[in-house]
Amino acid sequence: MSHEVPPRLSVLRLGHRRDRDKRITSHLGLTARAFGADEVILAGERDPSALETWDSVTGRFGGEFMSRFEESPMSWLRKVSKSGEVTIVHLTMYGRPWRESIPSIPTDKPALVVVGGTKVPAEVYHLADYNISIGNQPHSEVAALAIFLDSLIGPFDEGSKFSGAKMKVIPSAEGKVVVNDDEE
Ligand code: SAM
Repeated sequence: MSHEVPPRLSVLRLGHRRDRDKRITSHLGLTARAFGADEVILAGERDPSALETWDSVTGRFGGEFMSRFEESPMSWLRKVSKSGEVTIVHLTMYGRPWRESIPSIPTDKPALVVVGGTKVPAEVYHLADYNISIGNQPHSEVAALAIFLDSLIGPFDEGSKFSGAKMKVIPSAEGKVVVNDDEE
């Protein structure tokens, strides 16, 4: 990373619904990983398949991305907020513009990025240190997270972030080029 960013970035996905949100929640975690976050925390309905997908991708494509389920996200968030040890960033269309907010996010402590699905409890807006919008139009948590992380972190060295990969994509203008260490 070419500039200062918080030492650890976690993403909390609130309000997951196993049937309706399976695909978008899965994509949210993969986007968190691919764009440089260190951890995704799932809340809402328990869904081991989401965690399995994220862990399986990390197993094949490398890095140390973590995933876990949080049973009581609101009491956990209250605790995190009270500790003052983590910056809570809530992505919402009602927040302040991201380009002007990002430079003031502290880089000397971890950050927790909170994204919703269904309606987010009003308390989240108060617990958050920053309510940040990626434009003030409604769109998607996946788009919001990708743009936020890219703006916060910028380009990074995938080789070191995703070290230990069994599968590695070699950028190519012609088609799929993949090195697979599992193949003989
Ligand atoms: N009314 C919601 C809101 O507060 O942004 C939109 C719900 S949207 C289906 C689900 C999640 O996507 C939101 O909880 C928020 O995290 C994210 N999101 C959607 N649009 C956004 C925007 N313009 N800026 C930041 N986050 C957004």
